[in-house]
Amino acid sequence: MIEKAKINKEILNTFLEFCKLFHPRENIMLIRGKIKGKIAEVKEFLIPPLSTYGEYFSSFPVFMLPLDLSIIGIAHSHPSGEATPSLEDLNNFYGKIMIITCYPYENIWIYDSKAKKIPFEII
Ligand SMILES: [Zn+2]
Repeated sequence: MIEKAKINKEILNTFLEFCKLFHPRENIMLIRGKIKGKIAEVKEFLIPPLSTYGEYFSSFPVFMLPLDLSIIGIAHSHPSGEATPSLEDLNNFYGKIMIITCYPYENIWIYDSKAKKIPFEII
């Protein structure tokens, strides 16, 4: 179980910029990083292969994901302004952490697969 996350400020800002650019559509990106014990470190956000961007849940076929153990989760935006993970988000949970941002894309929330908030540090 992940108890804490770390994220680089510049990388975080890049993700938020992408979300602003996609608004009012949802942006979805893969999280590349490292898990060390109970700490998740976010290193990079990647554009998923064959992604489809919708007004509601952005999805892509999970089998298309690269077999890459450095993908530790999925990050996406909620144009609605509500940061709570939806049922679909939890059903489509991939990896160890889920990052959600919402309009106006100034902040993020990190969750585990049980929708529990994971505290994080911006480094
Ligand atoms: Zn969502």
